[in-house]
Amino acid sequence: MSKGILTVISGFSGAGKGTVTKGLIKKHPEYELSVSATSRAPREGEFNGKDYLFLTRDEFESNIKDGDFIEWTEYVGNYYGTPKSNVIKQLEAGKDVILEIEVQGALNVKKIFPEAVLIFLAPPSFDELRARLTGRGTEDEETVNKRLLQACDEAQYIYHYEYYVVNNDVDDCIEQIRTIIANEHSLVQNNKAKIDSIYNEIDLFKKGEL
Ligand code: 5GP
Repeated sequence: MSKGILTVISGFSGAGKGTVTKGLIKKHPEYELSVSATSRAPREGEFNGKDYLFLTRDEFESNIKDGDFIEWTEYVGNYYGTPKSNVIKQLEAGKDVILEIEVQGALNVKKIFPEAVLIFLAPPSFDELRARLTGRGTEDEETVNKRLLQACDEAQYIYHYEYYVVNNDVDDCIEQIRTIIANEHSLVQNNKAKIDSIYNEIDLFKKGEL
């Protein structure tokens, strides 16, 4: 069986990554969304094990020491990390796995999984991003400003990504991402087992055995 495609979705905080990835999984439950660990406090309506694995800083640091993460980073004062075992298990089982993580994490994933597909989800404009972050009302002004400064920083890394998807409309974004993943499945490099099988048949044919 072919291995699953590992897709990494990043983008500025407020670009709608959460909404798009959750919508993607709802519409395409065949994809597996990796649940990250974090040391930040749960927001209202977030559940442990569903939105994140909420850990204390000590627990997180102990997991780092144990090598439990594919990647981890500190973002706006909190730890975030991708637990290793489930991602690898799902990919091996042929499942397409989606990571919704920030830029440094994405670049680290790419070092370990060069075949991973990196998608940068962007807002229509920076001004629109600011309006969305302010309108969300879940963070105070200081945190919003921190996130905007973080966005300025993250923008430097856009060219490390393979795909740039603008979030004008959530359903359009979901469709674009689904198409990207479907295309990855058709790449020659992701079809080695099937190609080998054709080559085997060709060998048999040439020998008069087919
Ligand atoms: P939030 O606190 O808004 O849920 O997430 C803050 C940022 O952390 C977002 O950009 C989100 O994509 C990123 N993030 C979530 N999980 C992970 C992870 O496992 N690893 C990394 N590197 N970033 C993550």
